[in-house]
Amino acid sequence: MSGGGKVVAGNWKMNLGPREALDFPSGLRVPDGSAAEILLFPPAISLAGLREGLERSGLSHRVGLGVQNVYFEEAGAYTGETSVSMAAAAGAGHVLVGHSERRHVFGETDADTARKVAAVLRGGLIPVLCVGENLDEREAGRVEEVILRQLETVLASETIRAPLGSGARFLLAYEPVWAIGTGKTATPEDASAAHAVLRSHLVERLGDRGREVPILYGGSVNPDNAGELMSADEVDGVLVGGASLDPDGFSRIIHAA
Ligand code: PEP
Repeated sequence: MSGGGKVVAGNWKMNLGPREALDFPSGLRVPDGSAAEILLFPPAISLAGLREGLERSGLSHRVGLGVQNVYFEEAGAYTGETSVSMAAAAGAGHVLVGHSERRHVFGETDADTARKVAAVLRGGLIPVLCVGENLDEREAGRVEEVILRQLETVLASETIRAPLGSGARFLLAYEPVWAIGTGKTATPEDASAAHAVLRSHLVERLGDRGREVPILYGGSVNPDNAGELMSADEVDGVLVGGASLDPDGFSRIIHAA
């Protein structure tokens, strides 16, 4: 990726309610002059609390907010879902799409992720598309095939390629499923290899714009391994689950960036 600082994104999953979200920023430290781009993805119901907490701590200009999922329809009889415009109105600028828990716990398909990325771009928000192989796929030597299929399902759509080609922002997160929440981290070399495959496909599909897409690594990132992972080739930042729940640990990861 050309220019800019590393991206440090925290996915709280189904943790930290409105009250804890309000308190979280009081423990967050962002070093003066840090070039890191910091993003937090709380549960949608905690977004307003986190936003208020960031304002109280004077950090709202340093931390971008996002949601962990959206539905691709705008409104209607879709119990339990959140639309892109609702997420935007609540202060989200980014949306995680296709996180492995959405794919594997909730049965989201590649086609669903493409519809969601299109809806996010249509609504003027920034998608963060998550891709990654499971352990069986890795052991069968299918990493490249799986992650390229997940990426290509999205890039195959002209409705998506057109805004990306004309400058809409897009982030990609390589998150091997076997590394998420397991304490097993990909080696920096494994992460770089997967990121290089994704990068060359981005460039093939989007031309020079493909070089500007930040590719984050996710999977058991913690304050002790974040620095090494972020210095690996093609790793433009990290997507952090468990270790983003503690403001002190998350601050150490920001420091490592
Ligand atoms: C995630 O939720 O995207 C993630 C990578 O989780 P963890 O850091 O806990 O493995």
